[in-house]
Amino acid sequence: MVHIKDSYLNILVCKMAVYLNPCLSLPINLAENEFEDLIQKLKDWTIMHGGGMRSKKQYSNDSLTVVPFTLLPSVFPRSEFQKAVSIQPALNELTHYVSNDHAFLYSCLEKTIEVDEFTRNLFNLYETVRSEGFAQRISLGMLRSDFMQEKEASGYYIKQVEMNTIASGFGWLGIVSGDIHRFFFQQMGLLDKLKMLPENKALQGLCSGIIKAWELFNDKDSVILIIIENQSMNVCDQRFHEFEIARQKPELNVIRKNLTQIANEAKLSDTKDLIVQGKKVAVVYFRAGYTPDHYHSEAEWSARLMIERSKAIKCPNIQYHLAGTKKVQQALATPGMLERFIKDTKKSTDIRKMFTGLYALDLNEDGDKAVKMALDCPERFVLKPQREGGGNNLYGEDIRHKLTSCMNSKERSAWILMDKINPPVQQNYLIRPNQDFKKNSSLCDVVSELGIFGIILCDGDNILINEQVGHMMRSKLTSCNEGGVHAGDGVLDSPFLI
Ligand code: ADP
Ligand code: MG
Ligand code: MG
Repeated sequence: MVHIKDSYLNILVCKMAVYLNPCLSLPINLAENEFEDLIQKLKDWTIMHGGGMRSKKQYSNDSLTVVPFTLLPSVFPRSEFQKAVSIQPALNELTHYVSNDHAFLYSCLEKTIEVDEFTRNLFNLYETVRSEGFAQRISLGMLRSDFMQEKEASGYYIKQVEMNTIASGFGWLGIVSGDIHRFFFQQMGLLDKLKMLPENKALQGLCSGIIKAWELFNDKDSVILIIIENQSMNVCDQRFHEFEIARQKPELNVIRKNLTQIANEAKLSDTKDLIVQGKKVAVVYFRAGYTPDHYHSEAEWSARLMIERSKAIKCPNIQYHLAGTKKVQQALATPGMLERFIKDTKKSTDIRKMFTGLYALDLNEDGDKAVKMALDCPERFVLKPQREGGGNNLYGEDIRHKLTSCMNSKERSAWILMDKINPPVQQNYLIRPNQDFKKNSSLCDVVSELGIFGIILCDGDNILINEQVGHMMRSKLTSCNEGGVHAGDGVLDSPFLI
């Protein structure tokens, strides 16, 4: 017999109980074979509704495996969810202003680029196109701000983990996760729970941003270019963007290429138009290019430079990419800095409340203090390099090793230190492909991270569209440091608002 645990019943009894013991038994006990049937049905539902990914173990362009997901959605305070949703336009704006402030970007990154080759390459590319004069004034940000809950005296409050400005994924899979949980509740006859799952239109919103940018480009024969990795594991998430663009704008063509193919096949015309397969590109949407692994040789860097030089609207352009570095996040948290960009005091106060401690590690007195703090108590921190895509941060003893090894070296400036957020632990069942009954039916301790999507379309400083468009949630075992779904530890989840 499997007793499906429910994180919600006790909340009805006492709202605060979730902070103490988030699980109670639901009055639903399933026989083992019923539970197995249910899980298989949910997996089939998921893969048949676009919840798939390529298998890392047996990669094939012709097959998909089901995405991992939680059986139950995770409890999330409605007020904190609303807070994250309503602050997104201000965060979009902040990112836009930061991306257009050369002096600020330089001051944030000048020490880092001395020691971090990848960030240096990005920065040099930025300086090159800046000195030549940007060919396109229009910018498009498709952003995702990630949050975890942190316990404070009177309850749990959201804290920002990071802001993603490039390849912000799960606009589609975020929707699928909520729908898996809707289907689960429907199958269990728990129709009253459906209203606790918030509506999510992330994909539609993100794609409408791309389409609006294409319309501004104002050339009906032009196309959208999506830059992908050589092997796209997250192919469903990416493809559904294409399908949604086709749904909203049937006449608009989308081309997918990796940077190597762009180096070989694309051209920049005399008038700085980016030409791919004989078509003028209106919008370049990067789902790759955020890690050194995507630049196999100089060719991929020259492809990126060609794109940045072109008149195409880039999502993101190189300045937005740099505005998403951890170093910029850390600099914004220093006193007065955020307030330089966000003049509205209410907005800046609300944003600042979501920041957790962030510290520079440069070779100076403040850096020394931060290093000492981390060496004294590494469990309290996360050590982060300027990388994206998960799996790059250091924790616990690894922080000590790293900092000890570069104690007196400029290499410290490649990293930032961040207070570790301690989200509430909930119990859930993690359903993964090719897993046996025992694993499917074992209750695990998990923590979740909420991502809020935003789009911002600007012509120079003129903001044309600035919206929050949807959300995604991922959960991971408490024993895992990082929860990237494709890195292997994270699973899709959705918020259950109380
Ligand atoms: P990336 O850009 O590679 O996604 P993140 O800053 O999001 O980098 O870190 C990756 C993961 O590490 C996050 O999804 C989260 O699980 C964990 N993490 C990052 N920062 C913190 C933090 N301050 N406290 C707790 N966990 C964190
Ligand atoms: Mg990131
Ligand atoms: Mg992240």
